[in-house]
Amino acid sequence: MQELSSTLTLDKCLNQTFSCSCGQMHKAALKAAFISKDALDRMPEWLKKNQYKKIYLICDNVTVSIAGEKVRDLLTSSGLEVHMHVISHLSYDESTLGELLIHENSDCDVVVGVGTGSINDMCRYFSFKLQLPYCIVATAAPMDGFASSISALTVNHLKTTFEVRTPQLIVGDTEILKGAPYSMISAGLGDLIGKFTCLCDWKLSRLINGEYYCETITEMVSTCARKVLDNAGSVKERDPQVLGDIMEGLVFTGVAMSMVGNSRPASGCEHHISHYWEMIFEQQGRCPAPHGHQVGVGTILILKLTEALRKRDKIDFDRARREAEQYDFAQWSQEIRRAYGPAAQGVIELEQDAGKNETGGRLKRINKLEENWKKVVLLLESLPPSQTVTKLMEELSAPCCPSQIGVDRQLLKDTLLYCKEVRARYTILQMLWDLGLLQELTEEIMKEMDT
Ligand SMILES: [Zn+2]
Ligand SMILES: [Zn+2]
Repeated sequence: MQELSSTLTLDKCLNQTFSCSCGQMHKAALKAAFISKDALDRMPEWLKKNQYKKIYLICDNVTVSIAGEKVRDLLTSSGLEVHMHVISHLSYDESTLGELLIHENSDCDVVVGVGTGSINDMCRYFSFKLQLPYCIVATAAPMDGFASSISALTVNHLKTTFEVRTPQLIVGDTEILKGAPYSMISAGLGDLIGKFTCLCDWKLSRLINGEYYCETITEMVSTCARKVLDNAGSVKERDPQVLGDIMEGLVFTGVAMSMVGNSRPASGCEHHISHYWEMIFEQQGRCPAPHGHQVGVGTILILKLTEALRKRDKIDFDRARREAEQYDFAQWSQEIRRAYGPAAQGVIELEQDAGKNETGGRLKRINKLEENWKKVVLLLESLPPSQTVTKLMEELSAPCCPSQIGVDRQLLKDTLLYCKEVRARYTILQMLWDLGLLQELTEEIMKEMDT
């Protein structure tokens, strides 16, 4: 069996099993990904090779003209039978699902979705329910959900997630991607930039908690993110090469998750910030900013916190220990009730199960942090500067401040102090809380953002 190496490209990782220096075997659920100029042209051959003859092609009234008709003509002229449907119920709920079912020719052997976001989620769910293989032709790359096995649909007016199956093929034709709205491009970049902080969380947890960690996969994801950061200037010109790199990075993080079996390679505290905002916005009946923009802003906030921490000459570990001894679950629950509103009960139960804030565990982590402090600082130093990311987002006219995406000061403070409670996972935010510094540093960076 081949050993996984960090120099392997995305297409070399797919459809096979690797042994790895981390001790685990890795297998990507995705079969194929074509991301390049004219990637679409490779699709008919792939479909034929896999014995697919009758295609149920699904678009919406926007993606049909961007790529849907092109896909239909290409596949038809290659001798494949195509039944195309343009979704009219854009609610992406039960009615959309019913519509897809009604228009399905019962003898189709593969579903091909054209679009991104909701249409991808719906087609992935629909094909799973019909036990048909699924392929997606991307019209934009605003987030890393392409290779995901989860679909989020509106059921009974409620956003609900379902575990389904990853697609077999993802097509990212850069000639199509370069036509995507600017905000979608910068959102994709924001989601990819978030990999720096999420990988740092994973490394920290390995160091402090001995959590399972894969160096090779971390290396592969960070190479993707680094490549895009280094060439980000060309995003503005819609350089197809960089747009392809963003898409490849986003697809790869999805693949990395399936290889590791959890979301460590894709989601850390910057995503907890975004999850918290989404929850609060939903409670207030407001529409949140695109996921990738929230993650981009969240990443900048985390970078600022780590920079504020690194400015300290000395960390008072004894003070952290005293604070850990004074932890009061009842008082914490009260704060959570205020910060989470109707969602608080679930968060409190999660903590009752995980006990990540309890004194015993926290004291152990403080000791580990003290023993390894130099290594922790080195990890934090390897993060890109907040100013670099801010400048990049500004150049792309993407949001880089919480206020630009409807987050006021009170919500920002609550976010930095309490968003870590959305998951039982060790992150930079949990580390700052363990050290008794989260509140101080939050106030420090908020003051700085005022001036
Ligand atoms: Zn590994
Ligand atoms: Zn994301």
